[in-house]
Amino acid sequence: MKSKTTKILALILLIAGSVAAFAQQPAKGAPRTTYIRAGHLFDATSDSLRDNVIIVITGDRIQNIAPAASFTIPAGATVIDLSHATVLPGLIDCHTHMAARADRYDEIFRFKDTPFSHAFAAVVHARKTLEAGFTTIRDVGSPPFLAVDLRNSINEGLVPGPRIVASGPGISITGGHGDLNNYSPQTRVTMFPEERDFGIADGVDQIRHVVRAQVKYGVDVIKILATGGVLSKGDSPGAPQYTVEELKAAAEEAHMAGRKIAAHAHGAQGIKNAIIAGIDSIEHASLIDDEGIRLAKEHGTYLVMDIYNDDYILGKAIEFGLPRENVDKERMVGQRQRESFERAVKAGVKMAFGTDAGVYPHGDNSKQFFYMVKFGMTPAQAIRAATSNAADLIGRTADVGTVEPGKFADLIAVSADPLHDVRALENVGFVMKGGAVVKDAITNKGAH
Ligand SMILES: [Zn+2]
Repeated sequence: MKSKTTKILALILLIAGSVAAFAQQPAKGAPRTTYIRAGHLFDATSDSLRDNVIIVITGDRIQNIAPAASFTIPAGATVIDLSHATVLPGLIDCHTHMAARADRYDEIFRFKDTPFSHAFAAVVHARKTLEAGFTTIRDVGSPPFLAVDLRNSINEGLVPGPRIVASGPGISITGGHGDLNNYSPQTRVTMFPEERDFGIADGVDQIRHVVRAQVKYGVDVIKILATGGVLSKGDSPGAPQYTVEELKAAAEEAHMAGRKIAAHAHGAQGIKNAIIAGIDSIEHASLIDDEGIRLAKEHGTYLVMDIYNDDYILGKAIEFGLPRENVDKERMVGQRQRESFERAVKAGVKMAFGTDAGVYPHGDNSKQFFYMVKFGMTPAQAIRAATSNAADLIGRTADVGTVEPGKFADLIAVSADPLHDVRALENVGFVMKGGAVVKDAITNKGAH
């Protein structure tokens, strides 16, 4: 009897305890509000800074931005003090490869790495990218369908990482930039023989099929390879690899499915073919000529020019086993791409930030800002390429790219003034994604 009474009493206490613990949680349906004191704010709706503002965040969205002088923060509220820092929108990199490692240039890894090793690497890269201040990225080429799964796992909260706009593998002609070339015909690497890895397609019918198959497995964006590449074998970066008719079919299929389409293109003719076909962004655009620049302006096509990674490819990548053929191609293309960038900026072509992360180590994305300014942009232009313009290219202006009411509370902060020295963005001290702090090394709280 006695023992039974004790048990009942224990049960009652347990229930009472649970009720008390439950009562301490915020009421359901009442999202928490956070107040950020920003010493300076670059909201990316203009090229200038605002001083001393309060950013009000409710749940995962920005609710209000007000001058600090005329705003009273309620007593006891959660306040993040960035009054000695510059706050900006979370950065966006429109050209990354989350699965790619920058220490894997030896071709043997094409045969040794499993889908699992790619996925483990991608999890690490996603965190590094987010902590570097990139709260949104576009993955434009990874094994089927790693970027889709990574996007979903991040959205579920299983692993930390940026918001991901996911593509499948880049779609390539047989023998092109996305194929495995110059091996014995007996060498087979297809995981999905009937789909040729969801990447190889020749002719309009096969292209339509592969775009539809990629959409079936959940991609947000289509990537097509319109010319040869620098890091592939047996092809020339300058040579077109699809006809205008084939590129038009790809663009039409992608747009019919409500997806944007990005084309890898180094050579002048391939760039023009892609623009005429209605592709949304030209990736690399290394050898773009004056006619290509004129066409890009006329069609409103974005250029995504990765003008930092040349330094890495001609340095570390050689140490990591980059074959001679690819070193020679990079020497041919790298400097000319920077000159092309300068001409395109002068002409006023739409530009979005993209770095080809994975070719160089993930997390170093911001090193590209220095080169964008060196080759003709103002710091504000370079930052807007990675915020408001990038959001426009990826079709997410309702959610990201500026600091405005209604947008996700994706914010970063730096100690130095990025409009004075854009390299300040290489040291992002504070990162918030969707109202949750993911890195804090500069607030008063963080410094202690
Ligand atoms: Zn790439």
